[in-house]
Amino acid sequence: MSRTVYVNGEYLPEEEAKISIFDRAFLMADGVYEVTSVLGGKLIDFEGHAVRLQRSMTELEMVAPCTKEELLEIHRELVKLNEIEDGLIYLQVTRGSAGDRDFMFPDPETTKPTIVLFTQNKPGLANSPAVQNGLKIISIDDIRWGRRDIKTTQLLYPSMGKMAAKKAGCDDAWMIEDGFVTEGTSNNAYFIKGNKIVTRALSTDILHGITRAAVLRFAQEAQMEVEERNFTIEEAQAADEAFVTSASTFVMPVVEIDGKAIGDGAPGSKALRLREIYLDESLKAAI
Ligand code: PMP
Repeated sequence: MSRTVYVNGEYLPEEEAKISIFDRAFLMADGVYEVTSVLGGKLIDFEGHAVRLQRSMTELEMVAPCTKEELLEIHRELVKLNEIEDGLIYLQVTRGSAGDRDFMFPDPETTKPTIVLFTQNKPGLANSPAVQNGLKIISIDDIRWGRRDIKTTQLLYPSMGKMAAKKAGCDDAWMIEDGFVTEGTSNNAYFIKGNKIVTRALSTDILHGITRAAVLRFAQEAQMEVEERNFTIEEAQAADEAFVTSASTFVMPVVEIDGKAIGDGAPGSKALRLREIYLDESLKAAI
C-alpha cells in the first residue's frame, strides 16, 4: 500500500513526493533528522526528539520550517493517515535548494528549508525477536566528523559499519576513538558490571540519545548506579552485561563483542529489566 508522506506543507502519496536535485541534503548532506517511534498509535519521547531537532538546526544555523506544535500535528496526522499502530516516523529538515550548487549557505530569507516526514510500519516493534537473541557486535575505528552531537544525514560511515558487521556475521558495530568506545553506528553503547551501568559521557563525540537520557533516569530510579565515562572494548567484553539504546530498538541486549561472549552469552537480566521499565514508562507518557 502506498504511504502518505509529508513534503513542505503537503500530504502526498509517496510516488508524488518530489525534492529538487539541488537540495543541499542531496548535494552536501546538509540536513538533520529525527526518528520517533510509535507504539499503540502514540508517539514515544516526542518532546525530546523535537528539542534535539531544534538544537541540531541551531548548531547549523538552519531556520526551523515550522513550530514544535505544527511538528506534533504533522506526526499525528501521518500516524492517522497511514494507520500506524507500531512503527517509526522519519523526519528530515534540510537547508533547502538555492537552485544551484554552491558551498556557501544560501540566504534563509530566500531559500526555505525542506521538510519531509514519512512513516515506517513496524507491527510488533516492541517485541522484536532480536531481544531474545541479543546483538553480536564488532568494533571498528570511529572516523566520523567531530560534531556527532548534531544529528545530520551524513550516514555513510555508520552504513559501512553495519555492512562490515553483516559481512562478519554480526548485527552491528561499536566505534572506537583513541582507544575508547564512542557509540554504536545508530545507538548509544553501555555495559553493566555489578550494579553499575557505564556509558560514555555526553560531548561532541556522540549523539545525545533521547532513549539514553530516559534509560539513565529510570536506571537511577531503580537504584542502579550510573557512571558516565570513557571505556574500552576490553572492559565491555569483561562485563556482566552489555546493551545499546535507540528510539527504534529501545533497550537491546548485546551478547557478543568481537567474538567474545558477554557474561553467559545470553541477554542480561538487568538490560531486559531496563527495557521493560523504559517501555512501560514511555508508553505511559506517550502522546
Ligand atoms: N547514536 C547514534 C550515532 C545514532 O544514530 C542514534 C540513533 N539516532 C543514537 C545514538 C540513539 O539516539 P536516540 O536514542 O535518540 O534514537
